[in-house]
Amino acid sequence: MTDKNSEIMKRDLEVIWHPCTQMKDHETLPLVPIKSGKGVYLYDFEGNSYIDAVSSWWVNLFGHANKTINDKIKAQLDSLEHVLLAGFTHEPAVELAHKLVNITPETLVKVFYVDNGSSAVEAALKMSYHYHLNLGKCKPLFLSLTNSYHGETIGALSVGDVALYKETYEPLLIANMQVPVPKDQSESAAKEALQILEDVLIDKSEEIAALILEPLIQGAGGMHMYHPAYLSGARVLTKKYDVHLIADEIMTGFGRTGKMFACEHANISPDFMTLSKGLTGGYLPLSVVMTTDEVYNAFYCDYNEYKAFLHSHSYTGNPLACSAALATLEIFEQNDILGENEKKRTYIYKQVEKFRSLPNVKEIRQQGMVTAIELQGYDVKERIGLRIYEYALSQGVLLRPLGNVIYFMPPFVITYKEIDKMIEVAYKGIERLMG
Ligand SMILES: *Cc1c(COP(=O)(O)O)cnc(C)c1O
Repeated sequence: MTDKNSEIMKRDLEVIWHPCTQMKDHETLPLVPIKSGKGVYLYDFEGNSYIDAVSSWWVNLFGHANKTINDKIKAQLDSLEHVLLAGFTHEPAVELAHKLVNITPETLVKVFYVDNGSSAVEAALKMSYHYHLNLGKCKPLFLSLTNSYHGETIGALSVGDVALYKETYEPLLIANMQVPVPKDQSESAAKEALQILEDVLIDKSEEIAALILEPLIQGAGGMHMYHPAYLSGARVLTKKYDVHLIADEIMTGFGRTGKMFACEHANISPDFMTLSKGLTGGYLPLSVVMTTDEVYNAFYCDYNEYKAFLHSHSYTGNPLACSAALATLEIFEQNDILGENEKKRTYIYKQVEKFRSLPNVKEIRQQGMVTAIELQGYDVKERIGLRIYEYALSQGVLLRPLGNVIYFMPPFVITYKEIDKMIEVAYKGIERLMG
């Protein structure tokens, strides 16, 4: 390691407690100080480059240091960096809200700004509960899918189901029930899971405010994928039993699944949609809860009726973040991103076919620009994900497996040549596990 790399690492470890990390690992595992980024590449101080095959935790869409986004943020910076959004407003927030209303499913017509994914989930849960209360019904339960992930603040963690993040905090969590996620991408698995959903709704819908789900892909739950028939079925059932449907598109939104929003695969309009991650192209923290006029109107009355949604965050609707989001949407408007992604997706699928002959590969699945390779025959204690991560880094690719699942979720600007490299490195990494 160069002096600069190791100096930053040393100074970092003196004071920084990193997210999702057992800090002791860094006694042996070097941190990677990043100096700059361009396109799909991250560069360290030694001049090494890494293909960001996980879009920096699923946020980046159009590469690092994207000119369109940079320019828009710089222009915004010189006019207004931030202002509170209560009693005040600004153009980037207004323009962005209109655009989001135009591109999301038709009944979503109101935009509540928040500033990160988990907080958007919290706000959606609170809104749903509060909506029913404003209508005179107390529904203190939420329903979610097994293996789901909705963030890590207490409410969001409560509706999630990844034991690694959740178990420790169990006594702190809010009331939540789970129904099984469809076990695979087949339509029959979706139908089976819907049957159980209906049984639970028949029994408990009086107490349930909302069903929250990640449409089509459960990200942190190991890129587990299911059929759109589950979404259409869940929409019908939630309507029938007076339960809200919250589509958490924080990861699936903005083209990841092949359509702009995953809900479009099933042609459904949820009561709430949460968006973040790709919203700003991976630049700045921002999130929204989108909802319907029906929900909005249930809060709209004289102040002294005390039905308002008094939820806020300091950085609600930050202008810089909104302008990054506007630039991101502009890129979608001016280019055939989804069309190009369809070709890339097909190419990736063809290239990963060869993984099937490796005996430790259990399953390959894909939905849009997310491709996952699940391995078999390893105990969690072996930490094969870490071994793949370390090997891939040494080869110039950033992969961050989830347990036994190696996945690709690259920025959309990745080239075919870069796809080849990303896949080749993953292939060798998996092959090497077998010794
Ligand atoms: C990442 C994620 C969240 C949480 O967002 P943060 O900004 O990390 O708090 C919630 N839901 C889903 C589906 C996510 O992928």
